Amino acid sequence: MVNPRYTLIDIILDEQTRINIINQGKIKSFRIEQFLQWIFIHSYFDLNKMSNLDKLSKEFFSQNIEILPLKISSILKEEETDTMKILLETADNFLIEMVILKDDGRNTLCLSSQIGCPMACKFCATGNVGYSRNLSSSEMLWQFLIAQQLVKKVDNIVIMGMGEPFLNFNNVERFIKALVFNKIKPFSPRRITISTSGTKNFAKKMIGLGLPVKLSISLHSPFDYIRKQIMPNSLNISELLNECDLYIKNIDKRITFEYILIDGITDTEQSISELVKIARKYSAFVNLISYNEVEGINYKSSKKEKLIMIYLDKENIKYSFRYKRGQKIKGACGQLVWERKKNQ
Ligand code: SF4
Repeated sequence: MVNPRYTLIDIILDEQTRINIINQGKIKSFRIEQFLQWIFIHSYFDLNKMSNLDKLSKEFFSQNIEILPLKISSILKEEETDTMKILLETADNFLIEMVILKDDGRNTLCLSSQIGCPMACKFCATGNVGYSRNLSSSEMLWQFLIAQQLVKKVDNIVIMGMGEPFLNFNNVERFIKALVFNKIKPFSPRRITISTSGTKNFAKKMIGLGLPVKLSISLHSPFDYIRKQIMPNSLNISELLNECDLYIKNIDKRITFEYILIDGITDTEQSISELVKIARKYSAFVNLISYNEVEGINYKSSKKEKLIMIYLDKENIKYSFRYKRGQKIKGACGQLVWERKKNQ
């Protein structure tokens, strides 16, 4: 189908779209609900299998609504860590990734917001892939729907895959609102996390969103000279902390700082002691991340992970430690796409 007129998101969020479908297609309003139920509840994406839809509705939906704009290119599973990495192909032949992690029976979907990423973080495979374009809100929603079809139930969503969500915020916002406000199977905003590497006005955008979505900030180093080296396009520390101040003043929610442990770069004594000060100032939660080494990128994982955890315990900082998962399936963000690109 070339350039369908409407997306599922248009149907969910824009009343006018529903009116148009009813008027243009002579479609009964309940047919739209049936169609959405097949997709959201039963995970059926093939109109021919939507048994209660009449011929007219099927024809109209197939010609006018974007259905499955992403195709699964490959699925890799790491059984030991219950991690699944899915490579998807867009209609214009780009590859994107999403990861599903299972913990205590709960599935967390990490999805992408852009194709590649303009932030160009040096330790990140996606940052090395380059940037192609923003994903549409519909492409984000279809990542969720495909994940739901694969694992039956998605419990949490983190927008932490390829891309910087705040550089594509209009689309991210529409995607989140469609998830939260659809009447068929609403998703709790409390189970959604947006992650940022630190871009201008992220706090203002979160405030404007007006939903209890969680925020996770990639701090990765408390020092500008290191941040510049590993995250050249992100805000400097004072700008980043100004954004945190604004966020805390307006939103009664705990911040999480993501902190990646890279050997000799982010795991030094000075770095960790400064991290503690910042975390304490904001009563923030710290998510320590074990660096997932990527072939062709010259950073190594830290050898001091345990020591750092002991220190954070001693300093009474609340933290979690995210161990490398999906190493066998190139689980680091963008790693599969990066590998394919390198070999082209
Ligand atoms: S770490 Fe995140 S923000 Fe940085 S390049 Fe990778 S995807 Fe982009």
